[in-house]
Amino acid sequence: MTAYDPDNIFAKILRGELPCEKIYEDEDNFAFMDIMPRGPGHCLVVPRAPIRNILDAGDEVLARLCPAIARVARAAKKGFDADGVTIQQFNEPAGGQVVFHMHVHVIPRFDGVSLGPPASNMEKPEILAENAEKIRKAFG
Ligand code: 5GP
Repeated sequence: MTAYDPDNIFAKILRGELPCEKIYEDEDNFAFMDIMPRGPGHCLVVPRAPIRNILDAGDEVLARLCPAIARVARAAKKGFDADGVTIQQFNEPAGGQVVFHMHVHVIPRFDGVSLGPPASNMEKPEILAENAEKIRKAFG
């Protein structure tokens, strides 16, 4: 197993060294908008713990992460008035992982609309901000 790199992009976001559109946080987890969304409202939930992916995640981190994923999924669905939500999580390059801090994708989905390509189209900052606000407002 490759070691965790504390200078990965999401570690820098967690430390506040890089900006992001934050939508949710709790003691153990943090969530923010994906800058190259596969659909409107695509966001990422990350545990604060320095974990590369699910292959080195302890049970306790995962147990605390799951309710946060569900909360964000419900808010994303409500905020976008979506028909469903896709949850994705990739592990190691062969599994499609590009950023090596554990993260879970939450993507609002609409009947008959396909997912866009992964990490391909950089969203405008003002659209990301608008979309983040929709999700932030939807937390009950
Ligand atoms: P992975 O394939 O590792 O599961 O996905 C990494 C995700 O991080 C991609 O969807 C990509 O668009 C997103 N991403 C890459 N760099 C940044 C960044 O600097 N900020 C944010 N918010 N998302 C990023």
